[in-house]
Amino acid sequence: MKKITVLGVTGSIGMQTVDVVMNHPEQFKITAMAAGYNVAKVEEILAMIDVEYICMVKKEDALYLQEKYPDLKVVYGESGLIEIATLPEIEIVLNAIVGFAGLVPTIEAIKAKKDIALANKETLVVAGHIITELVKEYGVKLLPVDSEHSAIFQSLNGEEHNKIKKIILTASGGSFRDKQRDELAGVTVKEALNHPNWSMGAKITIDSATLFNKGLEVMEAKWLFDVDYDQIEVLIHPESIIHSMVEFVDTSIIGQLGNPDMRLPIQYALTYPERDYLIGGESLDLAKIASLTFKKPDFERFRALALAYQAGKSGGSMPCVLNGANEQANELFRNGKIEFLEIENLVEKALNKHQLVKNPTLEQLIEIDAWARNFVLKEIGED
Ligand code: NAD
Ligand code: MG
Repeated sequence: MKKITVLGVTGSIGMQTVDVVMNHPEQFKITAMAAGYNVAKVEEILAMIDVEYICMVKKEDALYLQEKYPDLKVVYGESGLIEIATLPEIEIVLNAIVGFAGLVPTIEAIKAKKDIALANKETLVVAGHIITELVKEYGVKLLPVDSEHSAIFQSLNGEEHNKIKKIILTASGGSFRDKQRDELAGVTVKEALNHPNWSMGAKITIDSATLFNKGLEVMEAKWLFDVDYDQIEVLIHPESIIHSMVEFVDTSIIGQLGNPDMRLPIQYALTYPERDYLIGGESLDLAKIASLTFKKPDFERFRALALAYQAGKSGGSMPCVLNGANEQANELFRNGKIEFLEIENLVEKALNKHQLVKNPTLEQLIEIDAWARNFVLKEIGED
């Protein structure tokens, strides 16, 4: 029985993880789970599965749950996250927290020799240099949950690293893929949240519309698969059926296909290197889909993607600035405070303003993340 800690359990990935685990009760148990602020959702999950530890962001929520569920141990805050990510009995930590907040618990879990199933791509974007070193040092597995990266990971099974020519990262193109740049000016939050293929949390859905999500994924791929930025190509594939591909030196391309269903990459990260039935999973009906289409992304149309390559190639602290500024701007857009295109403008301004730090420590990254958020708030007069 594999004992799991799920961070971000009330979210889109978190709830699908609960589903996968409930479908394999003999193999997995969620021993500990962390949520943000949604107490009602936590109670819903408690009615479905037996856990032993819960972590909430706020102390009041933790106290409320502790009183109502005296047999459980309820903790809170960052120290609570670290406590449940490092419990001796835990084998694997599935990190589905959204944003920079996922970084420290990932680091501590690795140091406690836990394997990591990583949905929280922001961890690798800002601190890929730290995470990859720690993974080597502590000898743990870093298993991708992001569908594209799971596809690449699966395509690389049994292959040698020096035979990779390039990685082809597919992108649905997000909610506005059919719009020209001048049509993006007045788009609404509701329109942006209407993703054509995937149902996901709000932040990543907006990131998919701007294409910052794909930009973050380019950086995530660089660290996960140890390739140069010149070896990562983004390909718009509106059907989201080929989840990504690898081209090898002999020009052969191997990819992974499937219906858009996040439960598959979640399950594969948990069962790896084994495979298991995906309960409720539907076989891909290629004849019904009939055609798959592809096009190159236009870097002027999708400015965010150009910014992400630029920040990634500059390296050091630049990805942290891009990520922090984007998290803040994304939230401001969702709260109706800024226009859609302002997101990328604000990120670009933050990148231009920042002085590169070459090999930032965790403490520096925490400061730089705060600086980038603050910079965005100041720019729009909200500080
Ligand atoms: P979500 O918004 O649905 O869920 C986020 C979870 O994190 C919630 O449980 C929330 O309570 C928790 N959380 C937020 N801030 C927290 C904090 N400070 N401390 C502790 N918990 C906190 O997001 P999601 O769509 O499930 O995405 C989660 C992560 O997975 C993101 O990094 C996203 O990029 C990545 N991801 C998601 C999908 C998807 O299909 N949803 C696909 C690939 C990758
Ligand atoms: Mg993805």
